[in-house]
Amino acid sequence: MRHWLPVGWMSVWAACAIGAWAGPAQSIVLTTRHVYGREYVALGDMAKVFGLKGQANRDRSVILTSPQVRVRLTVDSREAEVQGVKYWLSAPLALHSRQVWLPAIDVVKTFDPLLRRTGLAAAWPLRTVVLDPGHGGPDQGAHAKNGLLEKTLTLDLSRRLRALLVQKGYNVLLTRNDDRETPLDSRSAFARSRKGDLFVSVHFNSSAPSLEPRGAETFCLTPSGAQSTSAKGATLSAADFVTFSGNRFDNDNVVLAHCIQQSLVGRTGAVERGVKRARFEVLKDLACPGVLVECGFLSNASDTRLISQSSHRDKLAAALMAGIETYKKAASR
Ligand SMILES: [Zn+2]
Repeated sequence: MRHWLPVGWMSVWAACAIGAWAGPAQSIVLTTRHVYGREYVALGDMAKVFGLKGQANRDRSVILTSPQVRVRLTVDSREAEVQGVKYWLSAPLALHSRQVWLPAIDVVKTFDPLLRRTGLAAAWPLRTVVLDPGHGGPDQGAHAKNGLLEKTLTLDLSRRLRALLVQKGYNVLLTRNDDRETPLDSRSAFARSRKGDLFVSVHFNSSAPSLEPRGAETFCLTPSGAQSTSAKGATLSAADFVTFSGNRFDNDNVVLAHCIQQSLVGRTGAVERGVKRARFEVLKDLACPGVLVECGFLSNASDTRLISQSSHRDKLAAALMAGIETYKKAASR
């Protein structure tokens, strides 16, 4: 049985606030409070500022909605869902003083850009897209049981995507256009020196020896002050506070990742594995928004069957292009 949140849930915590955060673009102020050693925002405050209605459910989930938006969060869990795309909060949603709290960094770096498109800093107009076919040369990447290699597939898919983007009028550059060793830092350096406006690193996944995981996931750079999705334990380390040049585009990065992930799942029927955060070498030093997409698991038989088909790789390319186009619309000004 569901019930609507009590009125008190929406109360403002100015009285006990010990900090405040002002957002970037259309400035908003949310009072923050330290709970369990982290800065948190009352979920009711975020809902109010973003014009969302809140509904708490017996399964400890909280649904925030507006006519355009649906967010799902769960108390004591890092899992979140925005418009059907999975996210992981930097720390679990906390129940404290009879209120629900979420980490301030997630409000600033995930929900604000996703729900209000604030703080987008990408160069405009968006012309040059740098595609980065993962691996190459002696670095074969993942391999499927049928002998297919990730390095071959990433180049194949990047070329298909390039053809579609060129048709749409983009200038498209590849970090490698043959089977050669390409160091990770040279990939972002290439994007910087060629003045790329957008960077997409193309990969296929593997969880071998585990054969079950399948589906698509999209990574963007972890913001400074947050843990990466795969982090174990709740303690932030000094490395979590380093700021890279790619962090200048935190807001663009998450919107781009969202658009691409939503398109990949929606258009190819891939299992939804969400938008994840990582401090990947190819993303850290970018001077433009960038993501790394994992387009399916070569360790999974069903995914491999699909990925082996040329028609499916066309579908993947079309989905990636549609995601880029959706981001372009979102970021246009
Ligand atoms: Zn890879």
